[in-house]
Amino acid sequence: MKPAEPRAAAASPELLQIGRRPEHPAHPAGGHPADDPGHLTILYRGPLSSCDYDCAYCPFAKRRDSPERLRADRAALERFTGWVAGRGHPVSVLFTPWGEGLVRSWYRRAMVELSHLPHVRRVAIQTNFSCRPDWLAEADLGTLALWVTYHPSQVTYERFMDRCRDLVGRGVRFSVGIVGLPEHLDHARRLRAGLPDGVYLWVNAAEGHLYTDAEAAVWTAIDPLFPYSRTPHRSAGRPCRTGDSVISVDGDGTVRRCHFVPAVLGNLYDGTFRRRARPCPLAVCDCHIGYVHLEPTGLYDVFAGGVLERIPSIL
Ligand code: SF4
Ligand code: SF4
Repeated sequence: MKPAEPRAAAASPELLQIGRRPEHPAHPAGGHPADDPGHLTILYRGPLSSCDYDCAYCPFAKRRDSPERLRADRAALERFTGWVAGRGHPVSVLFTPWGEGLVRSWYRRAMVELSHLPHVRRVAIQTNFSCRPDWLAEADLGTLALWVTYHPSQVTYERFMDRCRDLVGRGVRFSVGIVGLPEHLDHARRLRAGLPDGVYLWVNAAEGHLYTDAEAAVWTAIDPLFPYSRTPHRSAGRPCRTGDSVISVDGDGTVRRCHFVPAVLGNLYDGTFRRRARPCPLAVCDCHIGYVHLEPTGLYDVFAGGVLERIPSIL
């Protein structure tokens, strides 16, 4: 665990002035749909826990799910998408599977189906994007977005960059990221140089890795927002949108405020969950999918229009 530190050294707005992304038609600059009253953001993680990649630092590397677990994952996802389809209020969804979802047809179908629902503001997924991209042609690209992670030990630079070029050509909204391990540094530099300016490359601080100021400066030159990831955010007693406008849901519909606080707040399907603002009960928050919702970070402004897919409003 990295030591807690206030984020006073977080990236300043001028660090972000490295070119401007064209305004996204569905989400004009200056606001995020998550700010709408009644809007609910859901981080969904079903039973799936397998991956086609074999990253050394990951517990899901090359893990296989039994046919029973895959069937359960599919049924749970279909139940969830049915619930979302029946809502009368705006919803955004980020799929955060343990492992890789898009190699499974039901995740691709869920992304496409949810993207076409008028009350779904955004549907995004964390993915290694090893899947073929053809299915994206069926989606509403004003709503769908991808959070893509580059794993240099698992895919060649050329193949990964071809995938990124394909996504750009299709007009898909996506961010690309890499874990800030020393052995990834040259890969990250090459990737940044190869990606169009309008594609944001994020760098995640490696789990348990302490960065000297000099090391942090090197990574910050690649991702101006790396200071937000460098050390955990102190969160105890601080206001966090989770539990109110943001929730975590598992395959059974069990609702928790986020993926990191185990207390159950109710169930999505039996109506026992009630939204309520409450401060964070943990000492620190160390993961972007959590601290982006922690109000003192101010990250809803930094990522306005792209909170779930991790795309800053000014690139
Ligand atoms: S791609 Fe992601 S889920 Fe798969 S092994 Fe690598 S880190 Fe784990
Ligand atoms: S700050 Fe992080 S750990 Fe705390 S409630 Fe929010 S998302 Fe969860």
